[in-house]
Amino acid sequence: MPIDVTRPYDDQNIFAKILRGEIPNRTVYEDDHALAFHDINPQAPHHILVIPKGAYVSWDDFSAKASDAEIAGFIRAVGHVAREAGMVEPGYRLLANIGADGGQEVPHLHIHIFAGKPLGLMIA
Ligand code: IMP
Repeated sequence: MPIDVTRPYDDQNIFAKILRGEIPNRTVYEDDHALAFHDINPQAPHHILVIPKGAYVSWDDFSAKASDAEIAGFIRAVGHVAREAGMVEPGYRLLANIGADGGQEVPHLHIHIFAGKPLGLMIA
């Protein structure tokens, strides 16, 4: 069910619980700014989620409020994860769902990384 991302950050959301270690995850990478783990319901042969460690509801919230260091660290982490997973060739897709019409279900910013097959064009 898509969520209202204009609400304040909910620290009981599932990714907040993962960051606190309250829910297990299959971690692929972690640093000061980001945690990357396998999506529990993969939509491609490789489907990894990368989340910032800060409490940001969405890409909109993050891009407006995060520090330059947080933004740089997070973007570098996303690129690092894809490179370390060998995705640069033949390629991969990044996706961020934002808000209800964007189809966002978890109110903590996450970047999806999809890879492992030709993904084709995706409009909606
Ligand atoms: P959204 O629609 O962009 O918000 O995507 C949320 C994603 O989180 C979906 O792809 C879910 O499969 C994934 N997800 C939900 N709960 C968990 C979990 O506990 N571990 C890993 N992925 C999860």
